[in-house]
Amino acid sequence: MPIYEFKCLTCGALRSVLVQGFKTPEGLSCEACGSKDVKKVVSKVSYHQSQSDRLSSYDPRSRHSDSYLKDTRNIGLHAEHMLRKAGVKPTEEFQNKLEKLRTDPSRVIKDEDV
Ligand SMILES: [Zn+2]
Repeated sequence: MPIYEFKCLTCGALRSVLVQGFKTPEGLSCEACGSKDVKKVVSKVSYHQSQSDRLSSYDPRSRHSDSYLKDTRNIGLHAEHMLRKAGVKPTEEFQNKLEKLRTDPSRVIKDEDV
């Protein structure tokens, strides 16, 4: 049985649903906010960009949606973009800190050395 990913158009939360047969399930709602405005995400592969794809498609002039800002993988993209533009290679420490922020932001906030 396939597992489909659905994205909430209200809050941006993703939900994986095990689909019986090959029919899109009816009456799905978002687990996070209860909105019925959910959309099937076409494929995991196209949704999950690599970090370098994110960086190269990053546009500092564009306005970002709430869901973009809630996506922790986008944390630090602006800083990385500015560094790259200035021709500065981010230090390993900087990269590690970003990686921590993207994977577990709450842990970093508690971390004293940040
Ligand atoms: Zn939602």
